[in-house]
Parts: sequence; C-alpha cells; structure tokens
Amino acid sequence: MKIKYFLKRVAMLAGVVALSFFALQAQDFRYPLDVPMSLSGNYGELRSNHFHGGIDFRVGGVVGAPIYATESGYVSRITIGPSGYGNALYITHPNGYVSVYGHMHCFNDAISKFVLERQYATESFRQDISLTPEQFPVKRGEFIGKAGNTGSSGGPHLHFEIRDEKGQCTDAFARGYLSIPDNLPPFFRNVIFYGLEHRNGVPESYYIGMPKADVIPLPADSYVCIDAFDKQQGTNAKLAVSEYKVWLDNTLLFHFTLGEVPGHMGRDINSLIEFKQKVVRGRTYVKSYTDPGNLLQDRIKGSNSGVISLEDTLLHKIKIEVKDIPGNRSVKNYTVKRVDSLYAGKVSDSLEVHCAPWFLPNFYMADGLKLYVPQGALYNNVNLSVDTLENRITPFAPVWRVANDRFPLRKSASVAMKCNIPDSLVTKAFLAHVYGSGSLGYAGGKYDTLRREMVANVLSLGNFTVGVDLAAPEITPTIKNGAVVNGNTIVFRLRDRLSGIRSYRVEIDGHWVLAQQDAKTRRIIIPLQDARIQRGKKHMLEFVAEDNCGNVSRLKRTFTW
Ligand SMILES: [Zn+2]
Repeated sequence: MKIKYFLKRVAMLAGVVALSFFALQAQDFRYPLDVPMSLSGNYGELRSNHFHGGIDFRVGGVVGAPIYATESGYVSRITIGPSGYGNALYITHPNGYVSVYGHMHCFNDAISKFVLERQYATESFRQDISLTPEQFPVKRGEFIGKAGNTGSSGGPHLHFEIRDEKGQCTDAFARGYLSIPDNLPPFFRNVIFYGLEHRNGVPESYYIGMPKADVIPLPADSYVCIDAFDKQQGTNAKLAVSEYKVWLDNTLLFHFTLGEVPGHMGRDINSLIEFKQKVVRGRTYVKSYTDPGNLLQDRIKGSNSGVISLEDTLLHKIKIEVKDIPGNRSVKNYTVKRVDSLYAGKVSDSLEVHCAPWFLPNFYMADGLKLYVPQGALYNNVNLSVDTLENRITPFAPVWRVANDRFPLRKSASVAMKCNIPDSLVTKAFLAHVYGSGSLGYAGGKYDTLRREMVANVLSLGNFTVGVDLAAPEITPTIKNGAVVNGNTIVFRLRDRLSGIRSYRVEIDGHWVLAQQDAKTRRIIIPLQDARIQRGKKHMLEFVAEDNCGNVSRLKRTFTW
C-alpha cells in the first residue's frame, strides 16, 4: 500500500515536473544564430503601414550564417515569394507559440528537397505550405537553414519573430525571452512643431518646424512631432523607442506606450505619425495630437488630445521624454510663448471646405466622378473636395483632384470615374494615380461597360485619371543565343513599367523549370542543377511574361550547359 502510494506520488510529481519543465521550456527561447548578438532592427519600429513585428539580427553583412531552431517543435509552415519575408520558416512549439525566420537564403537539405519537389509538382516558385507535426519535427538548436536577403530585405539579416498562441507578435526582449545589454538612452534626431486650426470642423495643420530662438513663438494651438531612436551597444542601428511623453508645464498632454500592437491595428501607425512628413519628406515623426479615430488610443494617455493650447501670452514650458524598454530615457525642454501675429493667415480660408466626418461613411458625387469613403477609413474629419484639372497625359478622362494624399486612409475608398475609352483599349485601361511630375501610377480597377466608368479601390487619395498600358513586360536576358553557360544559374531581368508583372513562366526543352523571382532587384534566377536537364547538351529556353493589363512578352534562348 505504502509502495503503491509512493509510486503514485512519484508519478504525480513527475507529471508536475514535466509540466513545469514544459512551461519553463516554452519561455526559454534560444538565440537562433551563433554570430554575436547584434540588432539592425527591433520590435515596434515605425515602418510603412505597420510596426515591425520582429527582431532583425545582423549576420555579418553576408548571406550564409547558420540558423538554429529557437526551441523544439515542428516546422508548421513554409512560405516562399518574391517580396515580403522571401524564404520563411514557421516553427510551432509545444505551448502553441510560433517562431518565424524570414529572408532566409536557403533551408536545410531535407526541407529544401521537400520544397523543390513541391515547386515542381505545382509548377510554382511561390509557395505557402502548411505542414503536420510528423513531417519536420525539430529539436532546439537544430540547424534549419541559412540567413539571407530574400524578399523585401535591405541587406543580409535574420528577421525573427516569436508569436504567442493567439498569433500576436511578441516583444521577445520586453518579455525576457531573449536578452541583450542596453544601457544607452534614446536620442532625439529632430523635434518640430505644427500649428493647428479648425475650419468647418476640419482640423488643418501647418508646418512651423523648430524656430531657432530661446523662446519659441507658437500660435494659440499647436502640437509637437518627435523623431527619436533608441541606441544599443555594438550597433549603429536606429531602434524603436517604446515610450513618448509630452508635458505642457505640469500637465501631461501625451503619453504613448507602444507595447505589443495587434496586426489589425498596424495601419493606425499612419495616424500616430505626422503623415504629411511621411508623404512629402519620407520622415517618421510621432505626433502629440491624437486623431479621434485612432485605434491606438488604448495606449495613449494625456489631455486636450495632445494639443498645446496657449491661453495667455506668458512663458510656458514644454518637456518631452522618450524611453526604451530597459528604462533608459532622454529629455528635452523648451520655453514657448504665444505669438498670434506670426501665424495669421497660415490656413487660407479661400478654399471651400466639405467636412467629411470621420465616424460616418462618406459619399461624394460630381458629374463624372463618384467617391465612396467607407466608415472606419478616416482617422479624423477631412476636407473631401473634388474638382477637375486639364489632362495633358491621356485622352480618356480629365485629371480628377480627389481631396489630397496628405491624410491617411485605414481602408480603401472606392473611385468610379466616367471615361471615354475605345472598345479596343478597354482591357488595357486602369485607374491611374497622377503624380506631381505628371507620371502615372497603376491603381488597378475594372471597366464597367454599362456605365462607362473605371472603378477601383484605392488606399490613398489625390489626383487620378484613366490610363492604358500597351507595353508588354521587358524580359532582359544575360546570355546570348547559343551561349555556353558555365555557371549553375541563368539570370534574367523582368520588369513592367506601368501595370506590373501578373505572371511569368520559364520552360526548358518544353518543361516547366523553377525560376526564382526577386522583386527588389527585378531578377529571375533559374538554378540549372534543379532543372532536371542533361549536362553537355544544347537546350531551348522559353520565357513568357504577362502584365496586369494582359500584355504578353515571349523570349527564346538556346544554350549549352
Ligand atoms: Zn524584420
């Protein structure tokens, strides 16, 4: 009896030990490389339309650094594509967490062989493969592939994420999964002010900058914009700051704590930043003024929507503080004073203002143009005025000025433009952004024959017209016809100047072969050792590419390998 009880105890204890070991194991992610840890990017960096969801590890500037599984589990997903994460592996761990490895140069031999077979079986370079736990189980520290520069990557590095069981990208350093010494405070690259006025319910801001004066003259209402980065030992990378605070005298106007941002709120970054600076100068400033429609408000505290309202002409203090995850901080102090005369007439009241309330769907109709901005697309009230300009670029429609591109949209607006297109060109037509230089940008769209309208969904407003793409994709070979190829690859360049590449296909001797696309360099690389062709023989290669308006290019090359 006693022995039985003892055994039961042991079994129970073992269970408890196994459980706690499991839980402990789950929190104990190892650094996935063996080069010394150094970051080129951290969690929460302010990127285009999203916050960086991972950590970018430096790999010594070259491709090929071995990558190891951060924890035991199984490869649950493999994705391959010309942009985004390029070659990426997802490993699911026993507690439901998933580690992600992006921009990989290649996978280990077993996974590479499996992927290559899948690419040939499906005749597609692009892959998104879901796997079962039995297919590729991995042990902690097991070699899974090499670091690279595939997809949307600006140099060799490993993009690494740990997602929790809900799919939320976690801040691995803030949660203590990984650690790195950091006792350097963040630094301010730039601080600027914007003036703020309201016309007909629409907030209109104007650039003030940072006047060179001991006492900064400000209008009655203004806000501050902060361009700050965190620093770490051993890297010159400009990393994300995790907290921003702005005080007017003793009043906390703005306190933003980044934390972990759910993916669906990523685009709200455009309302957190001074969007005009992003559009015009490519700079990313966090602004103290909070738009009422910003979903990130759950992590913004403060008062007066972050607006610096000066009610008198006395001297006041502005204090700004930025902080990193370990708590290192930097502070800037300014003395300000209200000087109305400097800012009279900054916002012109000659133009009409059609206030589109941010919390409602907005529909605007003119003779020849319909604009629909759905509920949830705006962060603040905007002026949705619409008018036409002379079109010197295409003969199919006027250039429509649809508000402007200086405010962000969370989701797409729909534009329907009357146009006059000959039937023969209907399949080649598209809605076009018209840029300042007079060049056109492809915005997609479908032609509605009945209404004679081009209809498209767009993620930014501004100037539009209807264009046509008559030019087929450009396929540029790097080998001459009849060439003897000594290396193991044949490279082409593939580009389409207007509508973009929809699809391409490469065949050698009449059979599909893998042709890897790299969007950033516009290169197509054909690995010959995978092409299942005989060496020392003459081969016929045929390349076909189609753009988004259905224009097709073909190119043939004979070669000996
Ligand atoms: Zn990254």
